[in-house]
Amino acid sequence: MIELRLDCLEETPNNLGEITQRLSRPLILTFRPSEQGGHRNLTRKERQRFWSSIAPHGESIWWDVEGELAHDLTPDWSRVIISHHDFSSVPEDLEQIYERLARTRAAVVKIAVQASDIVDCIPIFQLLARARSEGREIIAIAMGNAGIATRVLGPSRGSFLTYGSLDDESTTAPGQVNARKLRSLYHVDTIDDETMICGLVGLPVMHSVSPHIHNAAFVEQGINGVYLPFEVHDAQQFFKRMVHPRTRELSWNLRGLSITAPHKQTVMECLDWIEPDAKEIGAINTVVIDDDRLLGYNTDAAGLVDPLLKRFTSLRDARVAIIGAGGAARAAIWAVKRQSANVTLFARNTTKAQALAELFRISCYALSAASFAGYDLVINATPVGSGSHIDQSPATREQLTGARCIYDLIYNPRETLLLREAHEAGCETLGGLEMLVAQAGRQFELWTGKRFSDAFSPLNIDSTP
Ligand code: NAP
Repeated sequence: MIELRLDCLEETPNNLGEITQRLSRPLILTFRPSEQGGHRNLTRKERQRFWSSIAPHGESIWWDVEGELAHDLTPDWSRVIISHHDFSSVPEDLEQIYERLARTRAAVVKIAVQASDIVDCIPIFQLLARARSEGREIIAIAMGNAGIATRVLGPSRGSFLTYGSLDDESTTAPGQVNARKLRSLYHVDTIDDETMICGLVGLPVMHSVSPHIHNAAFVEQGINGVYLPFEVHDAQQFFKRMVHPRTRELSWNLRGLSITAPHKQTVMECLDWIEPDAKEIGAINTVVIDDDRLLGYNTDAAGLVDPLLKRFTSLRDARVAIIGAGGAARAAIWAVKRQSANVTLFARNTTKAQALAELFRISCYALSAASFAGYDLVINATPVGSGSHIDQSPATREQLTGARCIYDLIYNPRETLLLREAHEAGCETLGGLEMLVAQAGRQFELWTGKRFSDAFSPLNIDSTP
């Protein structure tokens, strides 16, 4: 179906009939006022006049009419979507809004509300379940990045349709996924009740390439699975209300989670069992939902070392400098120490980093005064070089000169300023994408029991965020 957002035009075209006849697909006509997320200031009178002027419906033309107009119009109700939008929150009277709309003669009820955290998807999924049990057609959506799950999983849970934009720039509501991604990345057409659901828990998560890797792997392995970004503000609430099989308020086939910043440590409190290595590292990045238990693992450490072992015959006694003192640095310290390397920590805030250094019994120095000459390996475990720090490097060319290999854990962009400086300083370089794929491969195996095949090459995936 194609939705024509007539409110996005400055003027309503006077050849609408001709346009609608020329399109070969079913159409939804929408004429939304700005206070309900539309693009035009429209009075109730103007909207009444508009709908009256375009009657009667064509065979395959649907109207999306806001709820308050239900008693003003006399449309062909069999092709009306009666809608309610809330762009600020999930209203407390969501059920009553549904009941009010469901009492009209419209064929489909549509409710779109704004999610500010992933738990706001719960009432939407519950509404879908209720409408399904009552035999009522419904479109229920949580808007915003935190609501992506409702857009992708909605149709498999009874939603009449889901909305996709033409491209990333022309979205008509917050969190809308483009139509091509809905099909080619999330395979929305093939998701059903049996689909195993996995996802990435973090804040932010929308930039991540992990959905590209895992969704491609599901296809490659012939597994009915989908991997989604879960924008989570409060990890404890998410685990209690949506994840843990003993407490969750939602019935869904959730089987595995990747965990990223800032939740790698807080999530540990929500689990029933943590593998000993992850306990030592002090952070997890993988959760397996195993019957009614949550199991925690860390695949970052092994994923970080895998690409190194293709370049170094051994890391025994290698001099390794690690920049940063956050979650990735923890995994890096543990992983290279496990390989019997000599590790030194460099951080912008040595007072803060000291606790980490003491925990792993290593020395810690100020990054600003560092010289990496003589080091076999320098690992950047800070976000400097990506996102808002894209034009920055945690170390200058002068600091890097004389080091053998510079390993930047950042994978987007593939070539950071640090790696360019390192290359010019005559060092070998290694970016973070290989690690990302290596740790993802181990996660995939924990969730599915299957490995990426040798022919599978997610490094060639379209990694456009
Ligand atoms: P994190 O827990 O937030 O830690 C970030 C660390 O970077 C903190 O120690 C922070 O210092 C330091 N830092 C931030 N800005 C800095 C600056 N301007 N100068 C110097 N230090 C700075 O993040 P994380 O989870 O460890 O992730 C770090 C990076 O690793 C991210 O870019 C992430 O994408 C990447 N990563 C990649 C992979 C992969 O598979 N390739 C896996 C995990 C992580 P303070 O302590 O002073 O705040």
